[in-house]
Amino acid sequence: MRAVRMTAPGVLEQTEVPTPAAGPGEVLLRVGAVGACHSDLHILDAPAGMYPTPMTLGHEIAGTVDQVGPGVSGWSPGDRTAVYGIIGCGRCRACLRGLENQCRVVPVGGIGLSRDGGLAEYVVVPASRLLHVGDLDLSQAAPLTDAGLTPYHAIELARPKLRPGTTCVVIGIGGLGHMAVQILVATTAVRIIAVDTSVAALDLASRLGAHEVVQAGPDAVERIRALVGPPPDGADVVLDFVGADPTLTTARQVVATGGKLLLVGLAGGTLPVRPVADEPPTVPLETDVMVPFWGTRAELQEVIALGRAGQLHADVQTFPLDRAPEAYETLRRGEIHGRAVIVP
Ligand SMILES: [Zn+2]
Ligand SMILES: [Zn+2]
Repeated sequence: MRAVRMTAPGVLEQTEVPTPAAGPGEVLLRVGAVGACHSDLHILDAPAGMYPTPMTLGHEIAGTVDQVGPGVSGWSPGDRTAVYGIIGCGRCRACLRGLENQCRVVPVGGIGLSRDGGLAEYVVVPASRLLHVGDLDLSQAAPLTDAGLTPYHAIELARPKLRPGTTCVVIGIGGLGHMAVQILVATTAVRIIAVDTSVAALDLASRLGAHEVVQAGPDAVERIRALVGPPPDGADVVLDFVGADPTLTTARQVVATGGKLLLVGLAGGTLPVRPVADEPPTVPLETDVMVPFWGTRAELQEVIALGRAGQLHADVQTFPLDRAPEAYETLRRGEIHGRAVIVP
């Protein structure tokens, strides 16, 4: 079968590999669609030895069951599924509570992260990772598993503060951010302020239901402050889907006292936290700072429900498998609107 593999650090290659077979407890999926994620670029850019090579990338997968391995029940060839990408140990304190994204034993790992992923015609996954998607289009189902699940999990963590009439600032209207806007619209009654450098991204945010948009730039804090009022008031929740120094600075300068900062993007910025009562403080008093990671299987089921109800729709740009390297280069240049999805 054809597969797009990281053959060495930084090298993504179209290769021919034997079609794998489902082992005990596993299922062979015919891949229907795979989302291209910024994390894949981080994996490609990581130093040698951090990730196995050669490895097929792709951790945002939807497909159809092709073959069921020994000992698997409840799944049959033809079932249409989305894949929960994390594989926790299943036995630690976190996994037992369903928080495999906090596994205390297995460091960040899973399908397309520590074993072969979905950028291929077929992929083998543990049957326990599958969720039914019904008649949802597979190129819609795939982005739900990360671009949908990650913001959903962050919003779940912030839900006690997302009271009707409060304000949520969403920074970065890309693959995850444009899903966050829709999840907020579907599940809360908050005022949404979308922030991005790109006018096209802000137009997308408006179409999806953001109440205000602010173009990122030197005056972004001032313009957001004009909407949320001066300190100690501010945005109740800030979701930063970029995580670079400028966005983290904006985030901490617009959050309210007692608000919540959720740092989802992995762009390598630094948030200074200095617990003093300065005016203005680096982070306001009583403010929570969290670094959410992906989400849980239960949350993915809820995200799929939003998708099936027509309340969550990924804006996708599709590429055939042999153009996957081009999809990643386009993503790296910041030229993907919404999510790039690769269809084998
Ligand atoms: Zn990802
Ligand atoms: Zn665990």
